[in-house]
Amino acid sequence: MTSIELLQTLGVTNDPRFVAPAAIGKNARRDIVASENPATGEVLGGVRLDDAEAYERTVSRLAAGFRAWRSVPAPTRGQVVRAIGEEIRTHRQALGRLVTLEVGKILAEGVGEIQEIVDIADLAVGLSRQLPGMTMPSERAGHRLMEQWLPLGPVGVITAFNFPAAVWGWNAMLAAVCGDTVLWKPSLLAPLTAMACNAIASRVATEMGHPDVFGLVIGSDAEIGERLIADRRFPLISATGSCRMGRRVASVVGQRLGRTLLELGGNNAVIVHEDADVSLAAQSIVFGAIGTAGQRCTTTRRLIVHENVAESLREKLCTAYEQVIGVNGAAGRIGDPTSERTLVGPLISGEAVKMFERAVAQADKERGQVLVGGRAITDLGGHFVQPTIVLSPKTNDLPIAMEETFAPILYVFTYTNLDEAIAMQNSVDQGLSSAIFTEGLRVSERFLAPDGSGSDCGIANVNCGTSGAEIGGAFGGEKDTGGGRESGSDSWKAYMRRQTTAINAKGTFALAQGIVFG
Ligand code: NAD
Repeated sequence: MTSIELLQTLGVTNDPRFVAPAAIGKNARRDIVASENPATGEVLGGVRLDDAEAYERTVSRLAAGFRAWRSVPAPTRGQVVRAIGEEIRTHRQALGRLVTLEVGKILAEGVGEIQEIVDIADLAVGLSRQLPGMTMPSERAGHRLMEQWLPLGPVGVITAFNFPAAVWGWNAMLAAVCGDTVLWKPSLLAPLTAMACNAIASRVATEMGHPDVFGLVIGSDAEIGERLIADRRFPLISATGSCRMGRRVASVVGQRLGRTLLELGGNNAVIVHEDADVSLAAQSIVFGAIGTAGQRCTTTRRLIVHENVAESLREKLCTAYEQVIGVNGAAGRIGDPTSERTLVGPLISGEAVKMFERAVAQADKERGQVLVGGRAITDLGGHFVQPTIVLSPKTNDLPIAMEETFAPILYVFTYTNLDEAIAMQNSVDQGLSSAIFTEGLRVSERFLAPDGSGSDCGIANVNCGTSGAEIGGAFGGEKDTGGGRESGSDSWKAYMRRQTTAINAKGTFALAQGIVFG
């Protein structure tokens, strides 16, 4: 199937904003962005950007839609989400392929990303029959004290390029069962995936009698992004992306006293203790560091390894990386992300390749030693780089490792004492994901210490790596990662407003705290 046939199958070409590749070439215009396959440079299609008028049309529709949708019983809202999940499941392969074509992640990961929408839809359907509030004993005789959770309003969802479908799914499926309408503003690096997913959700909801639950605006940050975050009609802005973007969103939404749910950058470490199963650690680190070509928020970027196992682990990692890169004439596993053989696809853009090169050069200046990889790959056509391991100097001083470079670079540090390792892992600005490999209960409990003196991240795993979170748990991170939580557990509460209610069933005037008045 050609890329245009794929877009037709998924209904993208029916969107009035879609511009056929041939038409873009002839009339390059500032209000049209082209979506390119990062593995080949092929233009998949173009999108005519929304302007202020189009934004207003969509937002007015969703604001009015909210007033209708919130009155639909939550279990009925759940049935709509169930039907959307089923339709997404039906198109799982096609949508996964589109993710692969548009952002370059390998097909298994592209399809896996769509599976996350199906999974969160399942979870949301169950939730639609709960959304539980508490009842507390009242201190006043004959009174009831309780809380209920109410729909919040239209929710703005801003997504990053690297999870162009799943992050919308995490937000949209929960928000929808909570009674909110959803406006999606995707990254301009992945607008076609957004058009495809939103088209399915909108079509299914419309067919079931709810045409104004889902909306999509595609535009520049200056024209559309800024308009959205300043718009008081959105009580919640859920934004996923860089810490730089999160600071801007937090300040604008904070100024109007709105709520944010921020899912920002990570600089995740794995600690490997001396008693660890080193082979298990090596497998998890390789997946965490090179999966999605290092373009996950949860990518393993730093390895902190005990000196007694450092050499054997480094050897295992270097061997695995060499197999992926392909040395001494052997074929590597980097390349076409649609091929089943491929483990590492391209970076998203030429600019991302330059950032990779700048980080490796900086590491070299800081006396880091490239153990394997380190170069851009120029003969594959797209934006490819070699997965890279950099060993820190003996002093463990490597400032570049404190930054999140969105590429497959793993910085390796060595430690002697566990407290020192935990301090190193916590020393970065971000606090998203972390992991320790150990066979010892005391060591893992030190890492997870209930007084909070262990890992300072939102995710802390034992004997599994930093990436590959499950839907059932709350996902998100602390510090500069923004503090938001999405997906499972009680994350749904972010999409609702809490109302505390005291009911006097006795008919006599009574005040709390024993106050007597009059
Ligand atoms: P980015 O910050 O460049 O863009 C993210 C989104 O924010 C895009 O839709 C962009 O258009 C929008 N945006 C930027 N400025 C805006 C503004 N002023 N107003 C409104 N919207 C604005 O990030 P990216 O390069 O697309 O994604 C990579 C980053 O995202 C990495 O830092 C990664 O760690 C992070 N990320 C975090 C998570 C998480 O769950 N914590 C998940 C995926 C990605």
